[in-house]
Order: sequence, then structure tokens, then C-alpha cells
Amino acid sequence: MSHPEHGRFGAYGGQYVPETLMAALGELEDVWHEAKADTQFQLELAGHRRAFVGRPTPLYAATRLSAHFGGAHIHFKREDLCHTGAHKLNNAVGQALLALRMGKKRIIAETGAGQHGVAVATVCARFGFECAVYMGTEDMRRQSMNVRRMKLLGAEVVEVTAGTKTLKDATSEAIRDWVTNVGTTHYIIGSVVGPHPYPEMVRDLQRVIGDEAREQYLSVDGKLPDAIIACVGGGSNAIGMFTAFLDDKDVALIGVEAAGEGVRTGRHAASLVGGRPGVLHGSYSYVLQDGDGQILPTHSISAGLDYPGVGPEHSFLRDSERVQYVAVTDKDAVAAFKLCTRLEGIMPALEPSHALHHAGVMAREFGPGGRILICLSGRGDKDMDSVEGV
Ligand SMILES: *Cc1c(COP(=O)(O)O)cnc(C)c1O
Repeated sequence: MSHPEHGRFGAYGGQYVPETLMAALGELEDVWHEAKADTQFQLELAGHRRAFVGRPTPLYAATRLSAHFGGAHIHFKREDLCHTGAHKLNNAVGQALLALRMGKKRIIAETGAGQHGVAVATVCARFGFECAVYMGTEDMRRQSMNVRRMKLLGAEVVEVTAGTKTLKDATSEAIRDWVTNVGTTHYIIGSVVGPHPYPEMVRDLQRVIGDEAREQYLSVDGKLPDAIIACVGGGSNAIGMFTAFLDDKDVALIGVEAAGEGVRTGRHAASLVGGRPGVLHGSYSYVLQDGDGQILPTHSISAGLDYPGVGPEHSFLRDSERVQYVAVTDKDAVAAFKLCTRLEGIMPALEPSHALHHAGVMAREFGPGGRILICLSGRGDKDMDSVEGV
């Protein structure tokens, strides 16, 4: 049984899940709406954001990159400076507080790059939850440092050997665990994907990125940027950045997917650029699938973008053309990673390196008068092994 009409962004979203999960999704939605309206909860969340996550994160003028790309003004929103190294903790902290409110004792999660797994293991240590993180064998190999971090934080890392041994399979296993243990367990989904209310709730927890950035940008520049660029895996850092600017019609919003070895080669992870609508992990959205609706294997050098689906709100924003979606290859992302590291002394994660490459392309088009804001979603220490020799 499913309830596909509930929680839609235009045609997209819904709740395509087993009936056994419907009560838990309903409870989560109710608790989230209560918490949002509760001043005490908001104060508590703000306190954890300040003292634990390290917010507000700075707005940074990337002057040497700006000069390199012909003079357009490029700014970074520094989510790489969040505790644990990426924007993921914004969501994990919020959902941990909701799990406390629901009286749950155990938390589970899926992870690809390991960044979400680390964020969840971190909040479980901080708030005292039992923790299990599902991760594909292939990702455990690519991101062994994050596996060690999770274990030191006290989490059980559950190895997933099914399918392509990456994020898609880890997510399926986590959903299976949740179906079995739903009474005691909260499932922290790591992006704006999955059944309602996750896409909306995770967006609301991540929109702090764009809310802060909009105010910071206006106070520095007195006006808004011409273009805002963010990478899109499931889409949480991008939605978190874009939401505050959706009504600013003169601000171009660009989401950058992973083209892997090139969208034409079929070895990529660009769901919005190269996929079509279908159901994956509980919601209706753009998906990489073959003619029979079988999910296709994906490829990206960046584990955090290596996922065949995308959040339903992005599908809506794509069709309505409010956001433009493009794809950038592994090769271009690695070059941008190295360029940013050398010119700014900031080592970006491979995920936002895709956005950095596209910012260079747009900066050259704009020329010296252009103004570009990039969501630097995370830091790149975890990717050093992947970029060496490329
Ligand atoms: C996980 C991750 C992403 C991709 O996830 P979104 O939900 O699309 O934001 C991007 N950047 C970094 C640094 C990540 O860790």
C-alpha cells in the first residue's frame, strides 16, 4: 500500500512505502510540525547550531579564483567549516532533536561518501543514541577514513554487499531495517529524498545555509548575486542554499550534477540531466533507469553524488525551469579541486568541486561585472586519495 498523493511538489514526491511505515511517517510529520512552531525547540536548535555545528558559517571572497577566471566576483558559503566537514550535520542535529522528542532510543542511517554517516554517528554520540549506519562495500573501500571515524564515534557500520555496493543499496537496506524496528528506531535520511515528510523536513533543516548567505551577501555587497551554484547529489545543500532565493527572479539558480565520464557514455550520476521520472526509495522523481524501469548503475568519482535519484523538489524546479541543471565530468571536477586548493588555500570536497568548475565557466561568460555565489558544501581531506594520479 502506498499514499502517493501525500506531500507533493507538483507531480513529484509522495509516499511509496510499505504500509508498516505509514504510522512512523505520520508521527514524524506531526512531531516536525509541532517542533517548528515551538519556540523552545527553535532556541534549542539554534544553540546546537552555534556551539556544536559552528554556525553561522562565513561568506568568503575567493579573490584569486575570481582573478583567474577573468574578474567576476566569486564568493563561497563555507559549509566546509561545519563540524565534521560538511553541511550534513545541519540535518542530523535537527533530526536527532526530533528523535529525542519522539522518545526513540536507536538511530539508523545510510551513507555514501560517509559524510552523512559521520554526521549521524556524531549526533548519536552527542545525544546518547544507539547507532547503525548502512554503507556499501565499494564506498567503505573508497572512504575508509570515514568508516574509522564512525566506529570511533561508537556507531555500528553495517556493510552492504548487494547490487553495486554503493549508496542506492545501502539506502534499501536501511529502509528494510526501519520496517523491522520502526517502534524503537528513527531513520535519519541524509538528503531531500525519500517519502514525505523527509524532502520537506530536510529542506527546512538545511535552508539555514541560504538564509544566512542571503543576509551576509546583502550586508557585504548591498545587492544579490547574479548566479548561485550548488552541486546536486540528493540535493540537500542545493535546496538549502536555493530556498531563500527562489522568489528573487533576477538571481539565476544552477544545480550541478555529476557527469562522471560524460553523460553520453552512460557512466554518470546525472538524474535530472540524463534520467526520467520514476519511483525510487519512496518517492516519485527523476531517476536513472533503463527502458524497463530498472535502476541503472551510476558512476561518479565523488561518492556523495553517486546516486541514481534526486529530491522531488528538484524535479519540480527543473520542470518549472526556476532552476537550471547541468552536469560536470570527473575530470573537470578534479581540475577545479586542484585549482581551488592551490589558489585559495581551501581544499574543497569533490562534490562542490563540480560546482566550482561550472562557476569558472559562468565567470568567463559574465566577465568582470559578474557576481557568483557557490555553496562550498564540504571539505576535501576525505578525497585526497581519489584525486591523486588523476
Ligand atoms: C553528501 C554531500 C553532497 C551531496 O548531497 P546533497 O544532498 O546533494 O547535498 C554534497 N557535498 C558534500 C560535501 C557532501 O558530503
